[in-house]
Amino acid sequence: MAVDLKSLYIEEIEELLKEMGEPKFRAKQIFSWIHGKKVSSFDEMTNLSKALREKLAERMYLSKLEIVDKKVSTDGTAKYLFGFEDGNVIESVLMRYSYGNAVCVSTQIGCRMGCTFCASTLDGLERNLTAGEILSQVYEISNDIGERISSVVLMGSGEPLDNYDNVIRFVKLLNSRDGADIGQRHITLSTCGLADRIDRLKAEDLQITLAISLHAPNDEIRNQTMPVSKRYDMETLLFACRQYAEETKRRITFEYALIKGVNDSADCAKELASRLKGMLCHVNLIPVNDVKERDYIRSSEDKIKSFADILQARGIETTVRRKLGSDINASCGQLRRSYISKK
Ligand code: SAH
Repeated sequence: MAVDLKSLYIEEIEELLKEMGEPKFRAKQIFSWIHGKKVSSFDEMTNLSKALREKLAERMYLSKLEIVDKKVSTDGTAKYLFGFEDGNVIESVLMRYSYGNAVCVSTQIGCRMGCTFCASTLDGLERNLTAGEILSQVYEISNDIGERISSVVLMGSGEPLDNYDNVIRFVKLLNSRDGADIGQRHITLSTCGLADRIDRLKAEDLQITLAISLHAPNDEIRNQTMPVSKRYDMETLLFACRQYAEETKRRITFEYALIKGVNDSADCAKELASRLKGMLCHVNLIPVNDVKERDYIRSSEDKIKSFADILQARGIETTVRRKLGSDINASCGQLRRSYISKK
């Protein structure tokens, strides 16, 4: 299969050009067309000769995403439906904050983790996205609004650590000086808790923020909503998290979706606080969002506040996630791969 040039590091492009008998400096030109100017065809690379552009197009391609649909929320959040050349679709979200534009990217088409509260997993996993396809979500949104994107969260459809190599490549390319130049500290990777991959990530020596979808204070409750917890129990997961925080000195975010009657009691809050004690971390509470196939109900405002108070009184820094884009089904857990149902 031809190579997706958008997924390659500059050194790899140099290598390919060398094989083609082309000078090394062309790699930098090509790289900056793709990642700096964000073009999606060889024809737009006007400082390359037509002959070279044709030669490139014969052996390589640039993965492309097309905006199939865009919905804008009353709060300014926009949900993009992107179409691939193979007919698949994915969703990505643009969030506008006072400090800049953030994009939430999908890392897989569908997901196989099976969390019971999440829409992304309803039809299982179709395939992994390549690094270029994940990057394209950021580039296309930036092109569409004509503005810079200043931060990226890997919190769309898919489990990033289940698509490990492509995701690491994506982070490094997104971070590159000649590309989008988004600082690693402005990139957040969220995982449902593949503990062995967290160990591997630790060794990559990245400065990104790691977020863990915890959603329960113990295995008994976690087993009910997150099948992954049968593979990695909480003790294993939290051990990996503690080591990650200690070695990288990066504060971990624990995401906790509050579901009425499932995980929102005072006892749950106390148990959670005791398990996280002493770790460099903070808890981000998310009032659970509606997924029409499920009948989970979000906890009341009072319940959320008292849950947060219990954690805070025990020394665990806690925030409540602001709900963005819920009128267009763009909130956490509401992204999905089939759009037929929405037509
Ligand atoms: N697979 C990764 C990335 C998804 S991130 C992960 O599990 O972390 C999306 C975040 O939204 C995760 O914390 C996920 O658990 C959470 N989420 C999923 N469904 C939700 C829902 N219905 N309401 C609120 N949060 C939800």
